[in-house]
Amino acid sequence: MGEFDLITKYFAAERLRRDDIVVGIGDDGAVLRCPPGMELVVAIDTLVEGIHFPADTAPADVGFKSLAVNLSDLAAMGAEPAWATLALTMPRPDEVWVADFCQGFFRLAQAHGVALVGGDTTRGPLTISVQAHGWVPAGQALRRRGAQPGDLIYVSGTLGDAGLGLAQRLGRCMLPSEPLGGAAACVARLNRPEPRVALGRALRGLASAAIDISDGLSADLGHVLERSGVGARLEVNRLPQSEYYRLVAAENPRCFGKSLVSALPACAFFALTAGDDYELCFTIAAARVAELESVLANVGCAVTCIGLIDSEPGLRLSLQDGHCLPFEPTGYAHF
Ligand code: ADP
Ligand code: MG
Repeated sequence: MGEFDLITKYFAAERLRRDDIVVGIGDDGAVLRCPPGMELVVAIDTLVEGIHFPADTAPADVGFKSLAVNLSDLAAMGAEPAWATLALTMPRPDEVWVADFCQGFFRLAQAHGVALVGGDTTRGPLTISVQAHGWVPAGQALRRRGAQPGDLIYVSGTLGDAGLGLAQRLGRCMLPSEPLGGAAACVARLNRPEPRVALGRALRGLASAAIDISDGLSADLGHVLERSGVGARLEVNRLPQSEYYRLVAAENPRCFGKSLVSALPACAFFALTAGDDYELCFTIAAARVAELESVLANVGCAVTCIGLIDSEPGLRLSLQDGHCLPFEPTGYAHF
């Protein structure tokens, strides 16, 4: 199957109509209409086989995740997703692989009303770049900068489950088999992260700063602190963990590897530093927490207050025993 047949059969077959698409797949570029009064938000992320996903990952999971990580970036900006482009590089024109990839990709695209409007198809080591486009009312994009001393720090969902899923996938640990489905749920968190789009939208005009957690909470919160010119104190015992995560901590703590900070249990270090959570971390003025609670009813995920912004630069951890220790943001970095 040739390049153009692949494009026609799998990418151009119209799956989602949006009336803001003037020209879609099939021309030299897409022509798109942004609603009046809105600003365009653009994000791109690349997944490389062997680096971002193990080589034996199901193509449908790769398809899902390649879009999910971009929608997560849009969510962190408070944007409404609308369109995506896809640059696909693969060693050979593997139709079975592409069909399966599309199944995962379009499943998430449809769930969020995102239309694929263009792309590029080339030969080379398996690499997927997706660019997502969305919009926000002018001036309302959420930013990394803007956190103020006294603001509360929140995180959505739970931390570290995807990290456990990766440890299991790489054979670094054996997750407990009971309760049934616990280990599979961790692998699902790794392969099919649910971008927190509704939460991001609800945080417009409410959060003082936001970021999505791709490289680990401490590393990504570190970006917010740096951009905002502030510091933070996190309560270690408030870090949200799933029930299964706590069970692993009790039964098989070796799954978390080693803590690089002696006073910190490995399961807490892992929750702070493992990547692939794709939760949102945001800050909000204490006076606006009641408003936050009122919008949460419609966003479909829980949020947890984990600490406080202060004016002293850097990140500090409050431990259960009352001790406070400085923590160097640690997470995944390519270089
Ligand atoms: P060009 O030669 O102008 O770069 P291409 O031949 O690469 O155009 O692509 C033809 C059309 O198919 C373009 O509209 C392009 O956006 C679209 N396209 C190519 N590859 C993909 C893909 N993987 N996903 C979606 N659209 C694609
Ligand atoms: Mg091209």
